[in-house]
Amino acid sequence: MHVKTKTDEFPDYLVDASNLSGGYAEKLFIPQTKKEIAEILSEANKKGIAVTVSGARTGTVGGAIPFGGYLISLEKFTKLEVSKDDSGGKAAVGAGVLLTDVQKAVDAEGLFYPPDPTEWSCQIGGTVATNASGARSFKYGATRDFVERLQIVLADGDHLEIKRGEIFSERGHVEFETASGKKLRAKLPSYEPPDVRKNTSGYFSGERIDAIDLFIGSEGTLGIVTEVELNLLPKPKGFLSGIVFFEKEEDLLELVYEARSLSFESRLGTGTELIDATVLEYFDSNALEFIREKFPETPKDMAGAIFFEQETTEENEDDLFEKWNALLENHNAGIEISWFAINEQDLEKMRDFRHALPVAVNERIVKNKQKKVGTDMAVPDDKFRSFLSFYKKKLSESGLDHVIFGHIGDNHLHANIIPGSQEEAIKARHLYGRFVAQAIMLGGTVSAEHGIGKLKSKYLYVMYGERYLNEMAELKKAFDRKGILGRGNMFDAKFLL
Ligand SMILES: Cc1cc2nc3c(=O)[nH]c(=O)nc-3n(C[C@H](O)[C@H](O)[C@H](O)COP(=O)(O)OP(=O)(O)OC[C@H]3O[C@@H](n4cnc5c(N)ncnc54)[C@H](O)[C@@H]3O)c2cc1C
Repeated sequence: MHVKTKTDEFPDYLVDASNLSGGYAEKLFIPQTKKEIAEILSEANKKGIAVTVSGARTGTVGGAIPFGGYLISLEKFTKLEVSKDDSGGKAAVGAGVLLTDVQKAVDAEGLFYPPDPTEWSCQIGGTVATNASGARSFKYGATRDFVERLQIVLADGDHLEIKRGEIFSERGHVEFETASGKKLRAKLPSYEPPDVRKNTSGYFSGERIDAIDLFIGSEGTLGIVTEVELNLLPKPKGFLSGIVFFEKEEDLLELVYEARSLSFESRLGTGTELIDATVLEYFDSNALEFIREKFPETPKDMAGAIFFEQETTEENEDDLFEKWNALLENHNAGIEISWFAINEQDLEKMRDFRHALPVAVNERIVKNKQKKVGTDMAVPDDKFRSFLSFYKKKLSESGLDHVIFGHIGDNHLHANIIPGSQEEAIKARHLYGRFVAQAIMLGGTVSAEHGIGKLKSKYLYVMYGERYLNEMAELKKAFDRKGILGRGNMFDAKFLL
């Protein structure tokens, strides 16, 4: 095991994609076995030392940034075994394996792992801890939907292995038996989850939940994930994809609504259309301007664009192409200036286009020496249009540089404000507060996919209030009595006192 004790030896481990500054740790541990992790935790637990888990640090909310105590990196947990079965396959993956490596290994076996949080340099453990989702979640759901089994080291060094379908909550409680035979019983928070398609605000809860789901999205606060078993699907035969430009926003929105309802009908088997999008992504006019720096061929003066993707087979490919074409024509899309792909190479270009935008935004923010002010809120279906208008009105009145893009199929857009100065940063944060208030008022969530981390804990407080944060803290204490793990993530450490 590597141990580093001087902060200046590991500066890269003290930052993530949030640009949150001031991180520091007493020691960085890079263990190779679960036993080593257990030893570190057992010592930290005895002494009450805070422990932060570090994945690949692509998180955007500062969850992996330590503010004192020990830092544990999972990078040496690199097991990667893929196998096929009747329903697709399974992958047994060490927490430190990068998503890009999982995707390559899975693809090589003719299998498919749908979660695609845009940034493939994240670790599988990090994606489980944040319940990462992304464009394809529109059809396939988030990471949670593919996790079959977890190996976890708990705060006191004990071990836990949970398999889906084995333990369920009863009367608002979950009960586990650890590897050492200890019984753990925890009360779930009693909040009602918001009526949205995606949510990563706070611990997973509900009437009768599978206990494994509690750890997924728990942001390094309940235990350290060391190994994950993932369920895999057969690889789709092909994909049809397009980046389609619109002159009028209203046409774009109507296209989204129709494509969405046709997709739902197809999935329920109630529709006669074949349209069933895996991805429905949005770019506003500013996003297109912004991205033209990297993709100069992007058409000018457009109101926005949609990126769609759908699985195809040799038999239905032509039919589907025609159906999408007709649908786009009906909604006045600029078909001649749009881009379509049916081969792997062109599809990759489309995904690069989608990925290039958040990366370019992050680069500009770093260049401006500012922190990211990016929303991650989702709202119920019937509130989306009004929420988008609210974003646009407030952002245009503010005069601040901004782009809006993201997962329109799930009513989940990222409004990213790009402050150029300290003064603008203050203005941007005020505006962010207005967006939070509006999303909550509309019955939405403050975080749909990036998690709460340290940057958004005050917004979780606004969303759930004192009572539910106390319930979350009680739940945490059932697993981590001294509150050492992921301290400061999701809620302030004062709730643990
Ligand atoms: C350009 C860009 C685009 C992005 N787009 C998306 C998107 O579309 N959808 C989306 O969901 N996310 C997106 N993200 C966010 C990010 O990629 C995810 O949050 C990712 O899942 C985090 O993985 P990581 O390994 O980098 O974790 P880190 O950032 O290192 O950690 C994230 C959190 O997980 C905890 N953690 C990490 N590993 C473990 C472990 N083994 N056990 C317990 N806790 C652990 C950490 O303590 C921290 O709280 C994007 C990020 C970038 C930079």
